[in-house]
Amino acid sequence: MKDESTGTLELKDGSNIAVIGGGPAGSFFTYFALDFAERYGLDIDIDIIEAKDFNCTGPPGCNRCGGIVSESLIQSLSAEGIVLPSNVISRGIESYTLHLEQGTTVIETPLHEQRIASMFRGSGPLGSEDTEQLSFDNYLLELCKERGAKTISGRVIEAERETDGISIKTKEGLEKKYDLVIGAIGLNARTLKLFENICPSFKPPKTTKTHICEFYLGEERVDEYFGDSMHVFLLNLPNIKFGALIPKGPYVTLVLLGSNINKEIVSAFLNAKPVKECFPEDLDLKSAMPCQCYPSINMDGAKSAYGDRVILIGDSASSKLYKNGIGAAYITAKAAAKTAIFEGISESDLKRHYQPVCHDLDRDNLVGKLIFITTTVIQKSAILKKGLLSMVINEQSKANHKRLMSSILWDTFTGSATYTDILRRTLNPLFSINLIGHTLKTLLTRTNNKKNEKQKVRTTI
Ligand SMILES: Cc1cc2nc3c(=O)[nH]c(=O)nc-3n(C[C@H](O)[C@H](O)[C@H](O)COP(=O)(O)OP(=O)(O)OC[C@H]3O[C@@H](n4cnc5c(N)ncnc54)[C@H](O)[C@@H]3O)c2cc1C
Repeated sequence: MKDESTGTLELKDGSNIAVIGGGPAGSFFTYFALDFAERYGLDIDIDIIEAKDFNCTGPPGCNRCGGIVSESLIQSLSAEGIVLPSNVISRGIESYTLHLEQGTTVIETPLHEQRIASMFRGSGPLGSEDTEQLSFDNYLLELCKERGAKTISGRVIEAERETDGISIKTKEGLEKKYDLVIGAIGLNARTLKLFENICPSFKPPKTTKTHICEFYLGEERVDEYFGDSMHVFLLNLPNIKFGALIPKGPYVTLVLLGSNINKEIVSAFLNAKPVKECFPEDLDLKSAMPCQCYPSINMDGAKSAYGDRVILIGDSASSKLYKNGIGAAYITAKAAAKTAIFEGISESDLKRHYQPVCHDLDRDNLVGKLIFITTTVIQKSAILKKGLLSMVINEQSKANHKRLMSSILWDTFTGSATYTDILRRTLNPLFSINLIGHTLKTLLTRTNNKKNEKQKVRTTI
């Protein structure tokens, strides 16, 4: 509430907060805000308003995503006392299998620990009958309810600024005024518009289209063909920066990231030899696919994701380019909760204490863009890919090897480290010397093989 003597806006005992969107960002904000308020001796009420029902299978319950929880997020969550139960984790990922046109190799977890999890955001793909499988998003919402938050099922359709608060209306008929409104609405264009109206300097993030689909293989075949490995593809195909097949119970999730992914691009990917070879030969991919979608993903952060009494968090503010969006939602949500409880809820408080966190993510994404430009150059060059493959195979075959390339690829695929940290590691002279060495070796082998072939032809003639 506004303190007329100081001109500051802060939460007081009895203040109420609307969290619009009960995805990871909304739940993390609520979890931390209630925790910080308790520690500060502040009595606040939080309503989480969510349009989806995460207990449903398919689109009505799904916040479309690959469903990988990075090792850095698993560690941060367990330090906060949030340990994902086994019925939320579909599979523990032990390794990555890297597929190139030039060959395949397995990259093991850097410390031989099972620290990455795959999960479903809702209760599984359309028509899934696995009642044991629990939704990740619902699990987080339940944690918030245990802490005292109220969840309201509904879609917010109006938001209006008043002198002493923000009024919210839902399609289902709720009308209520709040002291603080949190926009944890992902990339939902219509709801982002509502926030542009109440925060005139807010500009939503720039986005591009991606692709996700699920294939049903049955548990046994997933074990046999994919195991506990996430299969990652660096293929020379237009628009695709990264393709992955992620095993989850009886399903395998395909994720394609890049720019403007469409039907034709998906079809080219599925018809590529290294992809086809991952699946059983007799499987008809089309009929094994219960769900598919083309969701948006952040390419650039939002501008001014805050205003008096309003904070946007998660994908609606700043995310991590292509990877670990849930980890980024955790970072922005916690920073917003800290600011709201301990510093204040005026535009200037948020600019001083919340904006720098978004800014750090955005700056790291600039480095990420540079890394992905380099990856694209590698994707297009058979020789560089052979060099890369040879370097990884060499590292993985030696137990006490420093594994520079393997750890860089691991962190790029999982999103576990910042892009700045990954870039710093590529600047290690040993890394470049090794990569150049392996590339030259493959180049030499290729030239020798060609010479031998020519000689063979001459001898036969
Ligand atoms: C193809 C793809 C693959 C990805 N894979 C991964 C991955 O493997 N690992 C990872 O960490 N991240 C991944 N991400 C990113 C991740 O999905 C997001 O970063 C994360 O979901 C952001 O969480 P959020 O809470 O900000 O938004 P969301 O998860 O989108 O949640 C927003 C919530 O707001 C609700 N909502 C919106 N409007 C309204 C309204 N008007 N009223 C009420 N409720 C509303 C929605 O129903 C939704 O539940 C992926 C993204 C894409 C596109």
